[in-house]
Amino acid sequence: MLGMETIQYNLPQSRIPQAWYNILPDLPEPLAPPLHPGTLKPLGPDDLAPLFPMALILQEVSTEREIEIPEEVRQIYAQWRPSPLIRARRLEKALETPARIYYKYEGVSPAGSHKLNTAVPQAWYNKQEGVKHLSTETGAGQWGSALAMACAFLGLDCKVFMVRVSYDQKPYRRALIEAFGATVTASPSTLTESGRAILAQHPDSKGSLGIAISEAVEVAANDPRTNYALGSVLNHVLLHQTVIGQEAIEQMSLAGDEPDVIIGCTGGGSNFAGLVMPWLGRKIKGKCHARVVAVEPAACPSLTRGRFAYDFGDTGHLTPLVKMHTLGSTFVPPGIHAGGLRYHGMAPLVSHVVNLGLVEATQVQQLDAFAAGIQFARAEGIIPAPEANHAIAEAIRQALEAKAEGNARTILFNLSGHGHFDMQSYIDYQAGKLENYDYPEEEIAMALAGLPAVP
Ligand SMILES: *Cc1c(COP(=O)(O)O)cnc(C)c1O
Repeated sequence: MLGMETIQYNLPQSRIPQAWYNILPDLPEPLAPPLHPGTLKPLGPDDLAPLFPMALILQEVSTEREIEIPEEVRQIYAQWRPSPLIRARRLEKALETPARIYYKYEGVSPAGSHKLNTAVPQAWYNKQEGVKHLSTETGAGQWGSALAMACAFLGLDCKVFMVRVSYDQKPYRRALIEAFGATVTASPSTLTESGRAILAQHPDSKGSLGIAISEAVEVAANDPRTNYALGSVLNHVLLHQTVIGQEAIEQMSLAGDEPDVIIGCTGGGSNFAGLVMPWLGRKIKGKCHARVVAVEPAACPSLTRGRFAYDFGDTGHLTPLVKMHTLGSTFVPPGIHAGGLRYHGMAPLVSHVVNLGLVEATQVQQLDAFAAGIQFARAEGIIPAPEANHAIAEAIRQALEAKAEGNARTILFNLSGHGHFDMQSYIDYQAGKLENYDYPEEEIAMALAGLPAVP
């Protein structure tokens, strides 16, 4: 077997990180505080208590660099973690590039994506504080299946508002969520005031993440026994994802390599933050010199074309105001197949590191993303989630640039999930039914005109 090329850089179960990494104390400037939607004053911990357990609220504002991962959560992580770091040797050969390409593969989680990394601790902390019911929303269905699975593991019950378009297009995701014992309702629904208000105006509404969030928050706010869980955007969610980057740092060192560029796709920003924050922590200390690139869809370009402003996280304006790159909370993104990237805003933390110049942002069109995903699948044998195709497209672009320039380059990207439940989008792509969407300038201008006035 001498001379075999290494493909996987695996860590033993004992190397699952002991703590999540919080970048806040290492940043040169603090984050702008979230504001109460009524008073416009900075939010206190008690304002969030109707929705979240206190342990997660404290993580949301923590300035501790390391936050210990509870032993039972690490034990559940061991079901699929540490996830593999894979050298894409066959893709490198197919591209005839001198670049070395590595990907961290989060599709090995039983829910099929990185989302389980936060679903498990969120369910666990809720359980510790005696909560028995969680409500949430899901766009493409990945977050709904992750939270449903975590709730099944920990004995909680789970109610999921699923964006109407996905509910209709993705019956298998819905079936998976139900198999884990959660209930699924198409959003907008008649169960909530926010849902009914949308349906009164738009009876055929296909829904959006912003609308589904309003419904799930409303249910939790009105029922003292129910808490709310969010799959992205918030600091504590991004924090839980940092197991990805911490493992990747160890694995790149096993490979004897250092990344020159680190890439992730961004919807709400959690898988991207999970991979890159531990590297950014090193970058701030001068121990990492990589370019860090966030990739978003051209149809929903919050980082590259949105405004940095206080905005609501949802369409019904029930959530606190957070300062982020936003396209306006009433913007309903075009129906691209990367459902997990169809969100009007961006994590405040990811928005902040872009503003600080630590991260660059770029965008990819839908057809280019799918072309990259197919090329990747034929070389590496993994069918990627449509969201992850955006990261792959940028990785391939970088590898071809290295080839054109005749230099070597080490590329690391996050393969945030597999696409086994998204095959309809691949069928549509192969049949030539998908289209590119240009930046919907007028619609976004209209949505931005409605930004809340914050002094
Ligand atoms: C949800 C999801 C995304 C987008 O969400 P982020 O919070 O930006 O990570 C990306 N990839 C996959 C596979 C997802 O499920």
